[in-house]
Amino acid sequence: MKARFNGKCVECGERIKVGKEIAKNSKGIWVCKACSDIEEELP
Ligand SMILES: [Zn+2]
Repeated sequence: MKARFNGKCVECGERIKVGKEIAKNSKGIWVCKACSDIEEELP
């Protein structure tokens, strides 16, 4: 999904701006999409 607020990826430290694609990891923490270890749900 797209970020609705500015934040920071806890994995790589990358700044997350509003509108950036983010995803949850297996711990339920929001990280940047590249850092998520969960496969994106496919339609
Ligand atoms: Zn990251």
